[in-house]
Parts: sequence; structure tokens; C-alpha cells
Amino acid sequence: MNLVDLRSDTVTRPTPAMRAAMLDAEVGDDVYGEDPTVNALQQRLAGDLGFEDALFVPSGTQSNLLALMSHCERGDEYLVGADAHTYKFEGGGAAVLGSIQPQPIVQADDGTLPLARIAAAIKPVDPHFARTRLLALENTWHGRVLPLDYLGAAHDFARERGLALHLDGARLYNAAVASGVGARAIAQHFDSVSICLSKGLGAPVGSVLVGSAPLIEKARRWRKVAGGGWRQAGMLAAAGMHALDHHVARLADDHRRAAYLAGCLREIAGVDLLGQHTNMVFVDVPTARLQALDAHLRAVGIRISIGYLPTLRLVTHLDVDDEGVERVVRAFRDFFGKA
Ligand SMILES: *Cc1c(COP(=O)(O)O)cnc(C)c1O
Repeated sequence: MNLVDLRSDTVTRPTPAMRAAMLDAEVGDDVYGEDPTVNALQQRLAGDLGFEDALFVPSGTQSNLLALMSHCERGDEYLVGADAHTYKFEGGGAAVLGSIQPQPIVQADDGTLPLARIAAAIKPVDPHFARTRLLALENTWHGRVLPLDYLGAAHDFARERGLALHLDGARLYNAAVASGVGARAIAQHFDSVSICLSKGLGAPVGSVLVGSAPLIEKARRWRKVAGGGWRQAGMLAAAGMHALDHHVARLADDHRRAAYLAGCLREIAGVDLLGQHTNMVFVDVPTARLQALDAHLRAVGIRISIGYLPTLRLVTHLDVDDEGVERVVRAFRDFFGKA
């Protein structure tokens, strides 16, 4: 029985075609800038998204960290969502390793940081205060796609106030596919964008940071300092390249399956559907039944993450097909039918 793993879209395994592309990759020493496949991936994403340069890195956490450290200096501040990945789920790296002060801003329910809240948080130029340098947004945020007109307004605001603008676009392509625009139409509003290849796109490892040539030059230096300079990484870059060629348009299938799953769960008494956005479904179930639900699902080969009590996040991805979604629906019906 195939496992249906709804914990995250990070759990995807490389397809046979992706593995073949990895095996065939030409490689070289990337610290010398000599890995042709890494170089091709970087040039391709920079070109696709309209930036001068790009840097392939092991993780989205490192990509965001390098962006923050390249935009900001010691004693600078960045504005970030209070519930943003960069602020909350990356070990406080900007503060720990970059000496950059985070200024969290409470997000609106749609994931936007209201511009009035941002304006109120910008510090005056005065020795009492950290220097506010950068605004960091996240798209998608808990699956939600930030409205394009908001991105335009945030861009103009940042320009006016002399702030750089970074996007944690771990799921940039989910946002692009869901809103029916090219990823470039989203990325154009930012000075730098971090993209994960290892989430819905299905590569085993890797993220890419895109930005101006001087920014990426700084990021390359910080990557080495952070221990992220890698050697024959072309085999991983080949997986990323394959993902960009074959796994972007199909993200729509993940979104369709999440919508279908949400529609079915909504009908089940005992399950409170909180929402569905792109490839994520959020439900509440009675806390007292959570452990039993987890055990029931495990017994039929379904994994969920019950770390976010009591809200469950169910994530569809490359390794969850229609049959898998039906199995999840049946398992929920079975469990809650026997209330
Ligand atoms: C997963 C994720 C990251 C970090 O990626 P890792 O490769 O796991 O370090 C950053 N931002 C968001 C929004 C993510 O979902």
C-alpha cells in the first residue's frame, strides 16, 4: 500500500525521470563556479524571473538568511510577518547569525502586512533605533496567494520609504499557477526572491535566491561563511531543472485535489473545515479525538502532522494522486462515522 503523506509537500521523492536527469548531469566544482548544471539552473531562474543573477543553495532557510544578510548589515532591522516562516520557523537566524533585528508585524488574515502597520513600525533615523532597511513578505503564506495589487502597492511603498523588498517565495510557483500569471509577474515587485525546489516542485534538495548581481555576489560570500559552498552540486541542480521543466503546470493538480478534499471533509460531521488555499487544507477536529484519528489514519497508510494542535494542515503534492485523496476521504468518513 502506498503511503499517502499529507504532512507537507517537502516529502516528495524524485520521480524516475528526475533521477535519470540527476544521473546524467554534468558536474564540476561549484565553489570555483565550474558546475555547468548549477550555472545553468541559476541562469535559467534569473532569466525566467527577470533578475541579473541567482544562487543555488541547500535550503530555503539558508536562501532567506543569505538574502537578509545581503540586504542588511549589523544593527539593521527587517520588517516581517509575525507568523512568517523567516521570522518564526528559521531558528531566528537573521538575529543569531546576521545581527539583524526583526520587527514582526501582525499579518492580516490574507497574509498581507497592512501598509499602515508597516509605516508605523519604521524607525526614525536616530541613534536610539535600529536602521529599518528591508521588508520581507511571504507568498504563498499558509497556502494563501497574496493579491497582485497588494504586491504592487507594497513595492511602491517600499520604494518611497527607501526599503528593500524581499520575497520568501518558497511556493512562488503555487502562487503563480493559482493566480494564472507567470511567476515573473509576482517576482517583478521584489529586489530578491527565494524559491524552494524541494516543496511542491518535487526536487529532493535545493532553493534558489535571485537578485541583482551585487546582491548575489554578497549572498555567495555569506553562503560560504554559512558553510553552504558546495562542490559537484550539479546532480541536485539537474533535479531542480527537471522540476522547473515538468512540475510547474501540474501544481494545478495539487490545488484541484486540495479543493476536492476540502469539499468532501466539509460534509463530515466532527470535521470543521477552516479553509483551503492552493495545496493546503486546514481543518479543526475535536482535540480529544486527534490521537485516535492519527492512529486510525496510520493504520490505513495515511500520515498527517498533528504538531499544529488543534488545527490540522493537510498538504497535497506530487506523491498524492486522486486515488490517494479518495483513500483519505474514506478514512475520515470511517473515523467520524463511528463517532
Ligand atoms: C519550507 C519553507 C522555507 C524553508 O525551506 P527549507 O528548505 O525547509 O529550509 C521558507 N519559507 C517557507 C514559506 C517555507 O514553507
